[in-house]
Amino acid sequence: MNAPFAPSKIESVLREIEAREDQIVALTQDLIRFPTVNPPGEAYQPCAEYLGNRLASRGFQVEYIRAEGTPGDSDKYPRINVVARREGKNKGPCVHFNSHIDVVQTGAGWTVDPFGGEVKDGKIYGRGACDMKGGLAASVVAVEALLDAGLDLPGAIEISGTVDEESGGYGGVAYLAERGWFSKPRVDHVIIPEPLNVDRVCIGHRGVWWAEIETLGRIAHGSMPFLGDSAIRHMSAVLEKIEHELYPALAARHSDMPVVPEGARQSTMNINSMHGGEGEEFTGLPVPCVADSCRMIIDRRFLIEETIESVKGEITALLDRVAKERPSFKYKMRELFSVQPSMADRDGPVATATSKAVRQILGKDAEIVCSPGTYDQKHVDRIGKLKDCIAYGPGVLDLAHQPDEWVGIADMVNSAKVMAVATADLLTRG
Ligand SMILES: [Zn+2]
Repeated sequence: MNAPFAPSKIESVLREIEAREDQIVALTQDLIRFPTVNPPGEAYQPCAEYLGNRLASRGFQVEYIRAEGTPGDSDKYPRINVVARREGKNKGPCVHFNSHIDVVQTGAGWTVDPFGGEVKDGKIYGRGACDMKGGLAASVVAVEALLDAGLDLPGAIEISGTVDEESGGYGGVAYLAERGWFSKPRVDHVIIPEPLNVDRVCIGHRGVWWAEIETLGRIAHGSMPFLGDSAIRHMSAVLEKIEHELYPALAARHSDMPVVPEGARQSTMNINSMHGGEGEEFTGLPVPCVADSCRMIIDRRFLIEETIESVKGEITALLDRVAKERPSFKYKMRELFSVQPSMADRDGPVATATSKAVRQILGKDAEIVCSPGTYDQKHVDRIGKLKDCIAYGPGVLDLAHQPDEWVGIADMVNSAKVMAVATADLLTRG
């Protein structure tokens, strides 16, 4: 058991973080200037090496791990992850800060250079500023300030920069977790500085199930549709059941997961796409045919109270009910992707230490939330078998993936303080 640090020591760390505001800004700008766009996985290596070099100069043991053979990995676009570890003098737990270094495409609508790192009115702009290079920079400076305060930090601190989070994390945290990088005894507590707002502690996320449903019909001349069998009409019967039976059932399903925004605090399903009949790439006029195929892709988000089997079963039961009413109804279902929900214990060490730090720094209670979408916590939980994992970072959730994405400098300084206080607390809890 290590004794907690004196409040005056922690106070000096906080003053030190304030004094390093310029460093937080400069580091965020430097990170934004690596155009780590995924796909294809641009500039991963120089970005990982930049982070690794900085931490190596601060006494961290730095390792680069290429996720060979994972989706998208090639010599042109190697999936390079960096993990840096610094051991303390005495035994103790390990606190790990994990950030993804990849960003999504820029898209249209920018009024600033997406990779310029422009500073304006207390904000840093750029793709990845909010999601989540600002969070990564805050965690690095928080840890550096802790190390420089002359505290005898027990245990170990790790900082990782991982890739491919935006495309599922298979070349990043999943790959590392499969190889023990996110498991005990190596790691005890994980903080992921994803953009969930500076005053919120995010303990998990809902699950995902994507599937394609195809209804099948028989082609015939469009002037005599009664001689064919329209796959689109079959699909419309499916939609009818979704509208009148499935959606009310999903809306009635409430969760103990504190998902934000409020509208996502239930099961949801989006119909991502729908296509029936003749392809859209024709020139001239379309031809008159009864559609023999109609396909839709569904995106079902589910709660920790549900199982993936019940989610699938609910859809197949619905399709079977349609089949009872329509004698010629035939369908195929193809599963595309799934993620299990994840939720850490809100009374666990990392959630309580971070909440307590938010109260100390911001003078108000942290809101405990869950994310409507998923992030790399799933791999830490399911593969690494490490439950004590949360997301906490300075970015504003709603700005992620938007044009003119930004991160607030004051929020970064505050979140760095929270991260430093939470780390000192976790390391000395024994
Ligand atoms: Zn993210």
